[in-house]
Amino acid sequence: MNINPATVPEAFLTLSADELNDRIREVKAKLGKRLLILGHHYMTDEVIAHADERGDSFALAKIAAQTDAGFIVFCGVHFMAETADIVTTATQKVFIPDPGAGCFLADCARIRDVEDAWQEIKSITLQSIIPITYVNSGADMKAFCGDNGGLVCTSSNAAAALKWAFERGEKVIFFPDQHLGRNTAFAMGIPLEEIILWNTDEPLGGNAPAAVQRARVILWDGFCIVHQEFNVDYIEKLRQNDPQINIIVHPECDFDVAQAADYMGSTAYIIKMIEEAPAGSHWAVATERNLVNRLKSAYPEKRIEILQSFEPYCKSMAQITLTNLFYQLDQLDSGNLINQIVVEEQYAESARTALNRMLELTQ
Ligand code: SF4
Repeated sequence: MNINPATVPEAFLTLSADELNDRIREVKAKLGKRLLILGHHYMTDEVIAHADERGDSFALAKIAAQTDAGFIVFCGVHFMAETADIVTTATQKVFIPDPGAGCFLADCARIRDVEDAWQEIKSITLQSIIPITYVNSGADMKAFCGDNGGLVCTSSNAAAALKWAFERGEKVIFFPDQHLGRNTAFAMGIPLEEIILWNTDEPLGGNAPAAVQRARVILWDGFCIVHQEFNVDYIEKLRQNDPQINIIVHPECDFDVAQAADYMGSTAYIIKMIEEAPAGSHWAVATERNLVNRLKSAYPEKRIEILQSFEPYCKSMAQITLTNLFYQLDQLDSGNLINQIVVEEQYAESARTALNRMLELTQ
């Protein structure tokens, strides 16, 4: 996996935002339909302004799977570009302006630990287990799920993925985001007593053998640092000050935050809910600040705020800037294919199997 970004030369670092915007537009016009820029909702306004398509990771994976563009520049984090590479053809090339833009959550599941846990669980139960990995994971994790009868999910389709898995197995092991797994399983009616957490540092994940036997869902102990910043105390404070407030949260938030909220769903769901809400309604949103601030500007007739006294943001997403986007495009235009993401062949096919199972869920 290449995570070393090409060094941006000094001459690019001194360009003003206006110059960068103009020159990005020029290169885009020159490359025309050969180029597709995908932008995740957590990008800054200045970067997302240049995206041909914007969306959450599910929407962008679907667009990547359908485009004919030869060059796909992903303004997002590393696992998203990997996913795009997996679902595109061998002749299409995927780039990320900073391949060092990782994801804390994706890094929570290391394949060696996962394989050890899998063997440990298999050694104490004969029950059939289906692995599901959140799309926020490495290609090796997706390949593991593909090889073991499982699939990938996003926050938009986690419930459908769990349903798919329970039609095929007795248990699910869910990687790497414990909160998405717990919040989704509980919302589907699975009681907390049948959902256990697997702590990688302890034998049997810190569980008694009987608990592993009884569990219907085993959660990996990963989490997103950004969505950990939201808490119930703040929700209570807001509700006291404003009884009209609607609390809407992303499922990467803690279970108690999700339970205290009025609504929970993916970024696509959050956008749709606010878009369709009546003028004058009040919303407090628990997700990354760039999306919340954009909603605020788009709907001035609604009162929208972030569900925190400060603005939690994703440092990894912020690594994609106007400067490295322009440098990426400029180099592509010169035939210099820097920052290309190529998923290793040993993982690509099995990962594709797991991703295709997800893409088929909603077709
Ligand atoms: S917001 Fe969280 S899950 Fe999303 S890229 Fe950043 S660290 Fe990863």
